[in-house]
Amino acid sequence: VHIETTSKRYPLYLGEAVLTELSSVLAALKPAVSKVLIICDETVAGLFLEQVQESLQQEAHVHVVPSGEQEKSFANYYAAQTSALEAGLDRRSVIIAFGGGMVGDLAGFVAATYMRGIRFIQLPTTLLAHDSAVGGKVAINHPLGKNMIGAFHQPEAVLYHTPFLRTLPEKELRSGYAEMMKHALIWDADFYTWLRDQVRILSDLQGEVLQTALKRAIGVKAAVVAEDEHETGIRAYLNFGHTLGHALETACGYGKLTHGDAVAAGMRFAILLSETVYGKSLGYQELSDWFFSYGYPPCPALDAAELLQLMKKDKKAAGGTVHMVLMPEIGRVETMSVSDELIVQVLRQFQEQEGL
Ligand code: NAD
Ligand code: ZN
Repeated sequence: VHIETTSKRYPLYLGEAVLTELSSVLAALKPAVSKVLIICDETVAGLFLEQVQESLQQEAHVHVVPSGEQEKSFANYYAAQTSALEAGLDRRSVIIAFGGGMVGDLAGFVAATYMRGIRFIQLPTTLLAHDSAVGGKVAINHPLGKNMIGAFHQPEAVLYHTPFLRTLPEKELRSGYAEMMKHALIWDADFYTWLRDQVRILSDLQGEVLQTALKRAIGVKAAVVAEDEHETGIRAYLNFGHTLGHALETACGYGKLTHGDAVAAGMRFAILLSETVYGKSLGYQELSDWFFSYGYPPCPALDAAELLQLMKKDKKAAGGTVHMVLMPEIGRVETMSVSDELIVQVLRQFQEQEGL
């Protein structure tokens, strides 16, 4: 697959033996690569670091970050920059972001800012990273808001070696699947029906089903990013479920809720709100039942007024009003500003529906 953006065109390799391409991808980069720094999290390092090092033709420096969303922080950003300086990385060096979305976002932001920007490669290891590794948004969290400090910085390549996904625990599969559902809901009604009715998400995600699901979801992401790299228009659609989702992650404390669980709750809320706004059924109940049957947790019980304030801090908010991505029909979304009163009213109704 090729990812096209206005600023760059780069390849995405997806498959069972993609790791073998890593050294040739590095060797083909121009100007020639000086040093390589692998940034990965502890869990991924323990599982696969040796395998990656063996696949490289040159000695690579390694920087290991503790695992978990709470580590997508200033402190770890600073520590990684220190490692890069100590290793003597220069403008011709390359960073390999090796891990899930947390490491991808953190290492990508390090690459975006080290010496005003050096090249990086995404080597994703989670199902969710089908989303995070594509499109060039990189960031760290601030205690006051998720992904608040970041940049747009496209990778040189994305290498999605699917055998890495076999060690993912159930809750991480569920988390990644939520972003797949998002890609289907905003863009492709058939894909949504297929994901919901044909795939048993915890047992079927192997072999051909996995490759097909990833390809379709990445296809949506790539199409949206190709049209609007810097989010002046339709890229905002990808934030479906994220206005409340990010507010929940910030309010609960990073790492308490997986990103996908937060987004799943955010999508349920966005659909319930859409049913109110458009005055028709959009399958809220069906989708909620589906999520709960797979063990997605209900929305955490938080004060609606507090959540509203966090939603207003969202990067999409403008002039103090919340901008939401709403869904007039399955497979199609649009952005809309929503009044505080309506947000709070539907949030309360939503919390009731969720059994809170
Ligand atoms: P993550 O990177 O924290 O990984 C989840 C957990 O799985 C971690 O504990 C990790 O150590 C472990 N893990 C990773 N790979 C594994 C493997 N192969 N086997 C076993 N365990 C493994 O989280 P994530 O869900 O991959 O990503 C979430 C992050 O991505 C959030 O910070 C979110 O904001 C970000 N995100 C970014 C974008 C973007 O466009 N940049 C899009 C979506 C999400
Ligand atoms: Zn997301």
